[in-house]
Amino acid sequence: MNKEQLLREIPSIDRLLQREETQNIIKKSSLELVTHLLRMIINDYRNRVLNQNDSKIIPLSEQQVIMMLKKKIRQFIEMNLKQVINGTGTVLHTNLGRAVFSEEMKEEFWKILSNYSNLEMDLTTGKRGSRYSHLVEKIKFLTGAEDALVVNNNAAAVLLALSSIAKGKEVIVSRGELVEIGGAFRIPDVMEQSGAVLVDVGTTNKTHLWDYKDRIREETGALLKVHTSNYKIVGFTKEVSLEELVDLSKEKGLPVIEDLGSGVLINLEDYGLTHEPTVQESVKAGADIITFSGDKLLGGPQAGIIIGKKLWIDKMKKNPLTRAFRVDKMTVSALEIILSYYLQEESITEKILSLAMLTASYDTLVKKAKCLKSVIEEQCKNSIVVTTRKDYSQVGGGSLPLEKLKTEVVVIDFQNTAISTVEKLLRQAQIPIIPRVYKNTLILDPRTINERDFEYIATTLKNIIID
Ligand SMILES: *Cc1c(COP(=O)(O)O)cnc(C)c1O
Repeated sequence: MNKEQLLREIPSIDRLLQREETQNIIKKSSLELVTHLLRMIINDYRNRVLNQNDSKIIPLSEQQVIMMLKKKIRQFIEMNLKQVINGTGTVLHTNLGRAVFSEEMKEEFWKILSNYSNLEMDLTTGKRGSRYSHLVEKIKFLTGAEDALVVNNNAAAVLLALSSIAKGKEVIVSRGELVEIGGAFRIPDVMEQSGAVLVDVGTTNKTHLWDYKDRIREETGALLKVHTSNYKIVGFTKEVSLEELVDLSKEKGLPVIEDLGSGVLINLEDYGLTHEPTVQESVKAGADIITFSGDKLLGGPQAGIIIGKKLWIDKMKKNPLTRAFRVDKMTVSALEIILSYYLQEESITEKILSLAMLTASYDTLVKKAKCLKSVIEEQCKNSIVVTTRKDYSQVGGGSLPLEKLKTEVVVIDFQNTAISTVEKLLRQAQIPIIPRVYKNTLILDPRTINERDFEYIATTLKNIIID
């Protein structure tokens, strides 16, 4: 059939709407939605006919349209954002939502969301309060900073800090620190947006204190230090420490801004990980302003936390960008709960789920892997080969890129089924399972998998094998 004939054969929307099956679907949803989806289906088909020189395209029957409509309406009504099982072992997986919360938080968090709250009311005076007030004292206590402010994310925090402190002025930053973070966050672009002028000094691998010193002049507004959290320059390198920069800035009467990236509040060394500069260390070193993320190593909701000297924070509060970047009550509540866990020291690594996952001991992971293996074997019998072996998981979220967290993974060899097919079917399961794939085997890292999902994983694998 030629294109003209195919196009002429397309069923009319009016006729489709009159069909009994369509009427039944409308009763369960709405005429508007059904019409919208029918138009979508017909437009897709029309475009396919027009754009393809495929003689295999067959005429579209009313029955086919109804079938597609039923599928589309199911997809449309069910939530598109859904729970997935993270089998990759990458704890702060940016594509899978970074930090996750513990069950523990549920009650408190939901109470705030399903009721009115004192978000912006001072209960002592009855007057208008600040949404930041719920967080400021806790952040000050935990970090040792003079004052604090919280915005939408760390990218916004850096932009707000630069715009408030150095708009129209020059900001000096080391060439080795002009980082790009995923999602188009690049220091030079953020700088440009803020209205500050980037002055990069030194070279990619080496920057000396005199590089900064030589470039300071009348037009200089601040010195910026960026924690290169997602890569490492190794070998013949030289970086100026925050302490040295602070000394220089004091001498010259300039503020130092530090973009700390991840922003960890606990000493990771205590848990057998590599030392990551803590927020408290930066405060002690004397940085005027420090910014960091809420949903990286801190383990909380997406947020940008800004701490530092009151003088600068006050300036930021007056910047209209603060209103544009403000956090909503979901963030304020989740962040306050997470911060309160940091105040209850012994339970930090239990209640903050991403820290629990990061610091899980190898012994625990071996036990978990063995358990997952036997649950899978139980259900799948002898149709696949399941083993466990030592491997490494990653921190993720652009944090500690070189850190190799020892883990025990479950390795599944499907023998007769192509691994790409298995991977796709797992991804499209009712609760999608995201594994790692290595050399034609499927790898599940128990570090990021909850034990309560083991049975579901096994059943899903079984169904894939049978199909
Ligand atoms: C992650 C990161 C950012 C961006 O933080 P978001 O909270 O994702 O906006 C900025 N700077 C550095 C150094 C980072 O590591």
